[in-house]
Amino acid sequence: MVTRSYEKTQALRDRAAKVMPLGVASNFRYWGRTANPVAVRGEGCYIWDADGNRYIDYRLGFGPVILGHGHPTVCERVARAIRQGTIFAALTELEVRVVERIVSMCPGVDLVRFANSGTEATMHALRIARAYTGREKVIKFEGQYHGMHDYLLWTTASSNPTVLGQRRDPIKYQQSSGIPSCIRDLILTLPYNDFELMELALRREGHQIAAIIVEPILGNSFSIGPKPGWLEFLRQKCDEYGIVLIFDEVKTGFRVAVGGAQELFGVQADLVCYAKSIANGFPLAAVGGRREVMEVIGRGVSHGGTYCGNVVGTAAADATLEILADGQVLKAIDAQGRKLMAGVSEILTRAGIAHHLKGTGAMFGIMLMTEEAWEFRDVRRHNAALYEALAAELVARGVMPDPDALEPWFLCAAHDDAAIEETLSIFAEAVAAVQSSGLIDAEPPEDTSE
Ligand code: PMP
Repeated sequence: MVTRSYEKTQALRDRAAKVMPLGVASNFRYWGRTANPVAVRGEGCYIWDADGNRYIDYRLGFGPVILGHGHPTVCERVARAIRQGTIFAALTELEVRVVERIVSMCPGVDLVRFANSGTEATMHALRIARAYTGREKVIKFEGQYHGMHDYLLWTTASSNPTVLGQRRDPIKYQQSSGIPSCIRDLILTLPYNDFELMELALRREGHQIAAIIVEPILGNSFSIGPKPGWLEFLRQKCDEYGIVLIFDEVKTGFRVAVGGAQELFGVQADLVCYAKSIANGFPLAAVGGRREVMEVIGRGVSHGGTYCGNVVGTAAADATLEILADGQVLKAIDAQGRKLMAGVSEILTRAGIAHHLKGTGAMFGIMLMTEEAWEFRDVRRHNAALYEALAAELVARGVMPDPDALEPWFLCAAHDDAAIEETLSIFAEAVAAVQSSGLIDAEPPEDTSE
């Protein structure tokens, strides 16, 4: 293993720690005072830290960089556009063109409004759903993350899966201090993929529910997917009870298929939230959906924002969506990802490490457990200590997944054969390193709760 120096990288961490809480700009980037990832440059599937150490990047900014870091076409399109101004508080042709692209690429999306982050998109989607139905309560699923606003920061992927209580009477885990307690009454948190519990909840209070919001693939919990028929079941129940079905496609949108999870699974939501891959890492988000539902905007429902549809984000999205539109790039990413998944699985099998890989080639999770997981509560059976040790060995050798196994391995168009081969060879080395540490033989955590 090549010895790496981290002197300048650590100096930057130390400066940050003096002026930023936890020394980072977002809590999710906190790995530890001497471990926080630092990046000074990115190109394609690679990033470099302040000491010039190179990493094959599988975090991709938590998913947005679908085409690769610093993609020339996207950057040039943005540079050209912003020379003529960045923001106007007026309609631009770029906005119209991007919305036309979204409408043509995404099933069932008739009307679209822009936002600037996934958080904003899900917040607006909830308001639209509440206004459309005249109801206030919302169902979300355990282990799903929909952004930082108070309404949905309950039992997210950051929650402790051992304190969620009985499945039939889940404890709602408030993910942050500072959330008004009255919001607890507006949210129901249910286990994913559980048909019976959903049925029971709806029989009890289905006519008070404005929306069911769902990440069709749990992009914040191992990339667990829906059981056969689950999304169709949610669609049918929403129709039966007059509930708005919201797909949070912030991670899956323009990544798992051109039309996102709606296309991949053949189920249409009423509202869909997009962000991340829509603009290859430039800040842009959108909420779109069925005409009848979206049309409440302007009829007593507020949506707005100074930066909504700004030139930087829309120029980037215009170029990104143009490149993604015919589906070839996403097909190639999926194929590369599946090669990586197969290689990783083979290495783990050879080492005798129980595992399951979930998701698609473009975003997948590695769970270290014997029986595969179908919902967030199953995280208790994952050998997190082993995974974290493995991730640390990978990062030390220049392959950077997130140390949290719940976060996907993301691939982009620039992960070519050379990058995949290098990753697999380093993966094998990292497994050998943890093997010699004795961690692999450690018993998986005992699952005592229900
Ligand atoms: N929804 C999902 C599924 C997400 O994964 C995220 C962020 N990881 C968000 C919403 C929030 O997006 P943002 O960080 O852009 O606010």
